Amino acid sequence: MSSTIEKVHCLIIGSGPAGYTAAIYAARANLKPVLYTGIEPGGQLMITTEVENYPGYPNGINGPQMMEDFRKQAERFNTEVRYEVISRVDFTGSAHKVWTESGTEVHADTIIISTGASAKWLGLPSEQRLSNKGVSACAVCDGFFFKGLEVAVVGGGDTAAEEATYLAKLCPRVHLFIRRDEMRASKIMQERVFNNPNITVHWNTETEEILGENEVTGVRIVNNQTGEKQVLPIKAFFVAIGHKPNTDIFKGWLDMDESGYLIVKPGTTKSKVEGVFVSGDAQDRVYRQAVTAAGTGCMAALDAERYLVEKGIA
Ligand code: NAP
Repeated sequence: MSSTIEKVHCLIIGSGPAGYTAAIYAARANLKPVLYTGIEPGGQLMITTEVENYPGYPNGINGPQMMEDFRKQAERFNTEVRYEVISRVDFTGSAHKVWTESGTEVHADTIIISTGASAKWLGLPSEQRLSNKGVSACAVCDGFFFKGLEVAVVGGGDTAAEEATYLAKLCPRVHLFIRRDEMRASKIMQERVFNNPNITVHWNTETEEILGENEVTGVRIVNNQTGEKQVLPIKAFFVAIGHKPNTDIFKGWLDMDESGYLIVKPGTTKSKVEGVFVSGDAQDRVYRQAVTAAGTGCMAALDAERYLVEKGIA
């Protein structure tokens, strides 16, 4: 029934640094933003321990605490935070329509997309079964639990190099599985890996199976050149093969690149649909930092405010 449809000026999807920063700016501009948190309230920082590179925290801060501070600051200016997931959108008309998972329909004059990105997984059944039982996508979050033990990391990019180097401070043996005969990581990160006596690099190596029933007890790897298989007695398996933007619900409505990152007009947060703006990791495959996400969240709120003024809506 149309009478039950809610109308809002500014609807924000996502609750990482981009979404909450957009909310703070939109709320202070009196746009009365409504923010839907999504599946993972707080976003990727909720699975991070210490954040040491966010300006303004000289002693560092832990990720969940930082996101609670962001949320409180957004709520202080009367952002309405809803712990729900937006599962469908329709951008055909000037009132952009969204539906929550429970079926509520909301029409928004402006939408700020801040849905972020999630870690990619290999797709092995054993990886899923042992998730949080020794299989992790965040060494900084979970490495501590495997202090003193033998562990493995898969991936050849900067993230994998960083994770392996981090783990090598805690663990006497870190196996790094790289599927090609070279790393994609920057030279400086590669050097850190190669010069670390605790890291063993396995080139041309793929993971066949992570072993263990209720905890990781080992991994079976295969050399994709020779076919030679090997079982290593590891206790934890860290997946560091990149991220995927959370943009599936916008397929067909907004332009995206081949990996699913939303495309914005350069120097702005404007998508190809008037009144729909994109901030944070959903549109950033390069920097992906909390501070850059917050920066584009601010831009999105300013872009939304200007759009509403131009249209004479607010
Ligand atoms: P990435 O650069 O896309 O690298 C992903 C790595 O995982 C590649 O080595 C890739 O192998 C491998 N991989 C992908 N799918 C795989 C699979 N199914 N099985 C085995 N290996 C697989 O991702 P990232 O390392 O997360 O980095 C993303 C961006 O963030 C980059 O721009 C990076 O520079 C940046 N970053 C920077 C820092 C830093 O500067 N401190 C830290 C982290 C990330 P192939 O090479 O064979 O494709």
